[in-house]
Amino acid sequence: MKLSKEVKNGITRREFVKNTAIKGTAAFAIGAGGMTIPVSAQSPKSTQISGKTIREAARETKVCRTADVVVVGGGPGGIGAAVAAARSGADTVLIERYEHLGGMGTGGLVTIIPAMTDISGKQVIAGITQEWIKRLDARGAADYPKKEHWGSTDKKLVDYYKNRSPFYATGNRVGYSAHIDAEISKCLFQDMMKEANVKTYLHSWGTEPIMEGNKAKGVIFESKSGRQAVLAKVVIDSTGDGDLFPYTGAAFETQIDKTLRMSNLSFSYWIDNVDLKKYEDYKKSNANELTEKMREVRKLGGTPGFLTSNLKNQQNVVWCFPRYANKSQYDVEELTRVEFLGRKEMLITHDFYMKHIPGFEKSFIVLSNSQLGTRGGRRVVGDYVVSEKDMKTKDPFKDTIAVFPNMDEKNPLMYMPYRCLIPRNINNMLVACRAFSSDAVINDSFNLIHHCVCLGQAAGTAAAQSISSGVDLRKIDIRALQASLKKQGVILPG
Ligand SMILES: Cc1cc2nc3c(=O)[nH]c(=O)nc-3n(C[C@H](O)[C@H](O)[C@H](O)COP(=O)(O)OP(=O)(O)OC[C@H]3O[C@@H](n4cnc5c(N)ncnc54)[C@H](O)[C@@H]3O)c2cc1C
Repeated sequence: MKLSKEVKNGITRREFVKNTAIKGTAAFAIGAGGMTIPVSAQSPKSTQISGKTIREAARETKVCRTADVVVVGGGPGGIGAAVAAARSGADTVLIERYEHLGGMGTGGLVTIIPAMTDISGKQVIAGITQEWIKRLDARGAADYPKKEHWGSTDKKLVDYYKNRSPFYATGNRVGYSAHIDAEISKCLFQDMMKEANVKTYLHSWGTEPIMEGNKAKGVIFESKSGRQAVLAKVVIDSTGDGDLFPYTGAAFETQIDKTLRMSNLSFSYWIDNVDLKKYEDYKKSNANELTEKMREVRKLGGTPGFLTSNLKNQQNVVWCFPRYANKSQYDVEELTRVEFLGRKEMLITHDFYMKHIPGFEKSFIVLSNSQLGTRGGRRVVGDYVVSEKDMKTKDPFKDTIAVFPNMDEKNPLMYMPYRCLIPRNINNMLVACRAFSSDAVINDSFNLIHHCVCLGQAAGTAAAQSISSGVDLRKIDIRALQASLKKQGVILPG
């Protein structure tokens, strides 16, 4: 496939290494004994400091584990990948930088899984996402329209559900979207890892893939225990932002049109003890005054707007998620700037609400995100780049591994090919998260929580299949992969 202008303008490993001043650090080799990883033999014995860069000293890194599959990032993509790989028989390691699993779906306080039905109300997304919701449901920790109502156009029902959540009905039809509990999800995800026998390292930053030529051989990670390595037959980058593949030599894209949703960072927080009935009554009879007040809070430097939680035990909670334009979604200075700004504006907003918005008098800020909301970031250039034109394709790809609802009436289904998970020219690696190979328009619409779980589930299953059959990731039997996914409850064509 010809590279698009964006791809040509995308960043290659060489540029990335140059830009981030890590020259030379990607030259890892696996030691003869297999258990230590000497850095390039040319590296000096002690750190050399010269001007704006330093040359790090050579060092030996402990291999703490060997595995079939190592997944880096325990968000929606990583959960799907790790669980599926382990359940398919692969000895699997999961590395997560924070103290919990779930990524944006828990630490990012993003607790809505929208549109799992197509425009006719037929369920399209199931698999591990469905299992997650079912497990939450058993604890009263999920809320969604009753199954028998999915697809209904009964006006009474549509109005009822629209009133409960803007996600419960699209147009004039009830659909399947779920509000979920972030804290209970964290607990369920760790249960799922334990049950599947996934060796999990929390508090661990995956910093670099271990490469032999263009073959991924494992991952270096850093934690309170120091710098360690996991060697594996397949490496899955599920970091969301695509932290690993830039070091492999894979090309990637970063360009995002500023009008797209995913060009923004978000700082999310919850306000609790809101008297929502009082607020709704006020809103009904004083709509203009409320609009004026919201203008005022913006003038003061606050950020108006919120959604309600629909969970029975969270009836007094509202979710605020102001968006912030930014220069880069993976520049630490930008991330810090937005964290600081988000917290500052959170206080201004809440102070104003307490004083001026009926229902908020006794409210308090109960939680702010532990993971800043990045929606975009890097997108790998894979064996296939899913692009806007694919939204208008009626036929599934031969290697379709996931199907997503598309709100276009003429083309209600979006098919995802396995090839969009494989970084071009790189072996033994898959990318299973919002950094999958896609143009910005596709990524903007199809990088949601359940989408990433689906991509992860396919990647984990493919990795296990590649290892058990001894066949390269690019050459696995696609029909067998699809059959295995269907067995796991994934809805696929045919
Ligand atoms: C404010 C906001 C609102 C949104 N609203 C919705 C919504 O309503 N519904 C919806 O479905 N989607 C929504 N999205 C999008 C959705 O949350 C994300 O696209 C989705 O979570 C992506 O999943 P992921 O696994 O690719 O990445 P993430 O959810 O970002 O997970 C990545 C995981 O990897 C870990 N990680 C990252 N780097 C490293 C590293 N170097 N080493 C180890 N671990 C690492 C992270 O800590 C995290 O656990 C929203 C996003 C934002 C920001």
